[in-house]
Amino acid sequence: MMNSNKLKSDFPILSRQIHGFPLAYLDNAATTQKPIQVLQALEDYYKQHNANIHRGVHVLSEEATQMYEQARQTVADFIGAKFEEIIFTRNTTEGLNLIAYSWGLANLKKDDEIILSIAEHHSNIVPWQIVAAKTGAVIKYIGIDELGNLILQGSEDSLERLLNEKTKILSLVHISNVIGIINPVEQFFGKAKKYNPDILCVLDGAQSAPHVNLDVVKLKADFIAFSGHKMLGPMGIGVLWGRKEILENMEPFLGGGDMIGEVYQDRFTTNELPYKFEAGTPNVEGAIGLAAAINYIRQIGWDNIVEHEKNLTSYCLEKLSKLNEVRIIGPKKMSAAKAGLISFYHEQIHAHDLAQVLDSVGVAVRSGHHCAMPLHEYLKISASCRTSFYFYNTKEEIDRMIEGIKKAEKIFRV
Ligand code: PMP
Repeated sequence: MMNSNKLKSDFPILSRQIHGFPLAYLDNAATTQKPIQVLQALEDYYKQHNANIHRGVHVLSEEATQMYEQARQTVADFIGAKFEEIIFTRNTTEGLNLIAYSWGLANLKKDDEIILSIAEHHSNIVPWQIVAAKTGAVIKYIGIDELGNLILQGSEDSLERLLNEKTKILSLVHISNVIGIINPVEQFFGKAKKYNPDILCVLDGAQSAPHVNLDVVKLKADFIAFSGHKMLGPMGIGVLWGRKEILENMEPFLGGGDMIGEVYQDRFTTNELPYKFEAGTPNVEGAIGLAAAINYIRQIGWDNIVEHEKNLTSYCLEKLSKLNEVRIIGPKKMSAAKAGLISFYHEQIHAHDLAQVLDSVGVAVRSGHHCAMPLHEYLKISASCRTSFYFYNTKEEIDRMIEGIKKAEKIFRV
């Protein structure tokens, strides 16, 4: 059994008081807090090793290069990938844009189809809209059922019915940041590949990388993008994993230093993978911090993380469903597929007002459309509140959130 209160002491920020109350940080889907192990890795890097990488023969440059590349190996091992398939980006958003621009602009033509789901984050919609507008490609959306599951077959907006000879890309979210179901994406990618092995399968792993043991072989995707800051790492570092044979045939996304082999007045040749996709000075400390975060997660262990989050989620679903005016988005009952985040709205109180009252008692949750406006429109909801957990959260914090909702009900005289 994991002791969350003990682990909490690794996170200096979690001992803060907010408006005179101990912080209950329930906004982990937006970003997680950072343990001292990550903060120390950053400090050590800047105090002892800082230099630009790949270009110097001096000791600091060699050390910084070695640490950066070791971080890449740590990420590769974490998801069962090859070293040269790991591209450091700024975040999930940049990873998805990289695919859309580099692969999409080169390969999409008029009337080609891109299949997304209605549950996507804007990061997995807007890049495709930009590329679709430039190429004449068309976007189609897989719908969701009443519990928030992506529809595989049957209805008109199921993957099965949307697939056709014009389909070029299937890009799906692994865990929606609103619905919080671990989507069985391997089934969806498997179906698409069976229909046509050339369909590019892309996974938005922003919400799954911190909570699920990602395995690039099992997932059947061609690309997976995720962000360091949602998994205890620093902001400004992300990962794009891509299949080597696809990456090798893609044009670079950004041009500049490091991504080249040779440069002449009128042309350039590209560097080998993964450097072809890492133009300019990278976020060295970010990669080192992310590797420290991964080592920390491994030390706690997936089984412990998953079990703890499931206990919290099940507890929270039960408590929330006892509040008459609260409506839960997605599954109302715990299941193996439910991840540690719950979105809900109050029949009488606006999500922002609710979040404000919760903040007044030290409880941090998110409110709004969570960068998923098409999903909110589909669900006919203007805004929702979202509580999201990590292994350092406790049932006591959930109790405080529930008490905060009751306080809001009194304030707004519901
Ligand atoms: N996809 C999902 C499902 C997300 O939850 C988020 C972050 N809220 C993103 C993509 C974008 O992540 P980032 O802002 O780190 O690029």
